[in-house]
Parts: sequence; C-alpha cells; structure tokens
Amino acid sequence: KHLLTVKDLHVNVEDKEILHGVDLTINKGETHVLMGPNGTGKSTLGYALMGNPRYSVTEGEIWFQGKNITEEAVNERAKDGIFLSFQNPLEVPGVTLSAFIRSALEQKTGKRIRLWDFKKELARTMEILQMDPSYAERDLNVGFSGGEKKKAEILQLLMLKPSLAILDETDSGLDVDAVRTVSRGIEEYQKNCDGGLLIITHSTRILEYLSVDDTHVMVEGKIVKTGDASLVDEINEKGFKEVTL
Ligand code: ADP
Ligand code: MG
Ligand code: MG
Repeated sequence: KHLLTVKDLHVNVEDKEILHGVDLTINKGETHVLMGPNGTGKSTLGYALMGNPRYSVTEGEIWFQGKNITEEAVNERAKDGIFLSFQNPLEVPGVTLSAFIRSALEQKTGKRIRLWDFKKELARTMEILQMDPSYAERDLNVGFSGGEKKKAEILQLLMLKPSLAILDETDSGLDVDAVRTVSRGIEEYQKNCDGGLLIITHSTRILEYLSVDDTHVMVEGKIVKTGDASLVDEINEKGFKEVTL
C-alpha cells in the first residue's frame, strides 16, 4: 500500500554522517513537501533515495513498492519508477532534449517508441510548459537559461511519468512567470500520473496550484516536525526556529 517507506535512514557523505535516522512514508497519489534550513541534508535525502553512490546508507532501509531497494543501483531505481530532478541540471552536449527523453522512455519501458507518437506527445507537453518547440532539438541543457533547464526537468517528469518524483528546488532562480508555469506542470503530473511527489523547496510559490498532503521540516539531518499543508504557511510566517521549538 505504501509507495515509499524510509526507515531510520542514516547516510554518510565522504565518511561524515549527514542524515541521522530519517523516517518517511509516502503513499501513492500523495504530495509531500520537505523544507528546512540550508545544509541540513534535504538534497542528501534526495540523492540517497535515488541511489547516488556518493551517498552511502550506513543504517536503515528504503522500501519502494513493496521491495527493499536500499542496495539497488541508480539505473535500477529509475526503472522501478523513481525520478530525481536536479538542483543544477547537467549539460549534455551531443544529445538533444528529444533524444534524451525518448531514450529514457525506451529504457524504462523496454519497448521501442514510434517516433511520430513520441514527437506528438512531446510537442503537446512542451506547450503546457510554454517551451519553444525548437528546444526539443537542442542539446540537453546546453546554453539553456536557469528557467529553461528547470522546465526541461518538468518536461522529463511529465513524459516519463515516474511513480515517485523527487523535485529538488525546482523553483530556485526562476522568475514569477516561470515558477507559475512549473507549478502548473507539476499540477499536471498530480492530475494525470497518480504518483507520489516529494517537493524540496524554500518557496511556497511553487505550491500555488498544488494540493499538499504532508509537510516535513528537516533540521540537522533529521525530520523534526511533520504537519499538513498549513505548516508551510506557518513556516513562512514564523521561520524554522519558532516552528520547530
Ligand atoms: P540541503 O539540501 O538541505 O541544503 P545538503 O544535503 O546539500 O543540504 O547538504 C547537507 C550537508 O552535507 C552539508 O553540510 C554539505 O556540505 C554536505 N554535503 C552534501 N553533499 C556533499 C558532497 N557531495 N560532498 C561533501 N559534502 C557534502
Ligand atoms: Mg538510528
Ligand atoms: Mg539542497
């Protein structure tokens, strides 16, 4: 029944413990928000859930769709349906945005996808995100502005339809209009994909069009408080310190 269950997760980065026992459960169709001060381990949790080898689990377990994936490699987890959008998306010269997404889709499904169908779906989705169609044939993220990179991440989210999407500060550095478009894009995922969402953010603007089930506050490598959607507003008003007293 649970999509993701994290039990007492301890994570080291370069022999230093960053996460000191994180517990988290996300069910299918739920949206969770993760907030907290800078340097507290939010991105570390995202990387550990995705299986980045630089982030080593020293204690605890990660269960996904009824399977213990604590030891699974990144590509296996991607196949299982976990998606992580990056705070700073990589530039990949020589691979177009379109080719990248098509190849990721084919790897995920293990099937060839007809180019015509793919291009139609890609164009429709780019329209939702107000992306210029020419970006499909440009090299992935090369020369993209901050906002365009973030939109390209959301485009991947909507095309790949993962079962669990972790969005790490997808709104940082975006202007008001771009945040709104990205928020609409995530809303589209909520409506059509029935997956779980973990949104790491400092801003509430990204949540404008979204319904939030749970809000978690992480401080110094631990989730110290969990509440409903109203906790986001409370944090905005009072700050992390007062909210977690
Ligand atoms: P947040 O996303 O909450 O701002 P991070 O997870 O990025 O926090 O970082 C938590 C702590 O782990 C910080 O002290 C940071 O310096 C350290 N850290 C994270 N990733 C690395 C890394 N790849 N190498 C060294 N230290 C890291
Ligand atoms: Mg422990
Ligand atoms: Mg971070």
